[in-house]
Amino acid sequence: MRSSYSSKNGQPYGISGNDIVYVVLFIVLTAVVLGILIVLVLEYCNNATLFTSNVPAITSNSKDVTIPTNKSDTLSTINPATELYADTHKATVLVLGCIDYRLIDYLVNNMMERYDQHFDLVVLAGSELFVVDSSYKYFPSFSVTFFENVQIAIKLHHIQRVVAVSHEDCGAYKVKYGDDDDKQRHVDNLELLGNMIKDKYTLPFDGHYLSLDGTMEQVVLVE
Ligand SMILES: [Zn+2]
Repeated sequence: MRSSYSSKNGQPYGISGNDIVYVVLFIVLTAVVLGILIVLVLEYCNNATLFTSNVPAITSNSKDVTIPTNKSDTLSTINPATELYADTHKATVLVLGCIDYRLIDYLVNNMMERYDQHFDLVVLAGSELFVVDSSYKYFPSFSVTFFENVQIAIKLHHIQRVVAVSHEDCGAYKVKYGDDDDKQRHVDNLELLGNMIKDKYTLPFDGHYLSLDGTMEQVVLVE
């Protein structure tokens, strides 16, 4: 006599082993799809925040330019994980140079020889020129950007020194002065920067002058 709990082909009614496998597979696949969707939504939200964050507008009004004043300014909320990174990656110096493509090789190779790759590099048009320009008439953000880079280099890489390399026939000097025939201007501006570095961070400073033929001469030392 056939059981009332069996189907016509003799298989028992209810949940079979195959059914359980299908249900488990369905749950796993649903979880994976949901996980992917959540990750995609989070990524989208992050990017949307990046693109819509309120970046302060650059202005030539000196009242709106805030120059960081010491080592602890503005970096108090730095991610603790980067502190761990700082303990394993150290740079000897932070180097400031000009964007001029004719001299990038000379600049980088010279610093590689001096510091064996242990240098951070900031590149701005005119190197120190607009960083020390107290009129903020030309590129007021350069000063803020440079000193914020010094701060983060101190925090992350424990730099021991700041170096700036000014150079012959600099286009940025022509923007400000109409020519670049006077080497002494570079020396004066490097000295200004050296004194700012000493006052703000109590770090020593070297100022170099790079000629178009690749020779580099130290013209300023502030300790
Ligand atoms: Zn230049």
